[in-house]
Amino acid sequence: MAEPCIFCRIVRGEIPAQLLVNTTDCVAFRDLSPQAPVHILIIPKKHVASLDDVTDLEIAGKMTMLAVALARQEGIAASGYRTVINTGADGGQSVFHLHLHLLGGRAMTWPPG
Ligand code: AMP
Repeated sequence: MAEPCIFCRIVRGEIPAQLLVNTTDCVAFRDLSPQAPVHILIIPKKHVASLDDVTDLEIAGKMTMLAVALARQEGIAASGYRTVINTGADGGQSVFHLHLHLLGGRAMTWPPG
């Protein structure tokens, strides 16, 4: 049966994505529907459905530090940026493979919708 997880398929190179980083544990690629001038998704290579399912305590740290490095690389570290992990239905999660959004290049508003 075909693997239904779209982000697992990106990890395996089965569907195209604008890959920016490929480490031992994580990949980062541009969001298909960007909500800011810079909108990057950072995901673990290993399938984890959501933040609520994380058992590898190191993975969240690795994803976060990759976001910091990418913010510098994208030139948004000085102006500021937002990192978001939507979790579950009320969190607004639509793809059930853990991902961290890195958003920047414009001023963000608060509170989020
Ligand atoms: P979330 O709503 O937090 O689960 O975010 C899922 C994100 O994945 C959305 O911002 C989508 O635009 C993005 N997305 C879905 N499919 C793809 C894809 N094939 N390539 C890149 N980004 C995608």
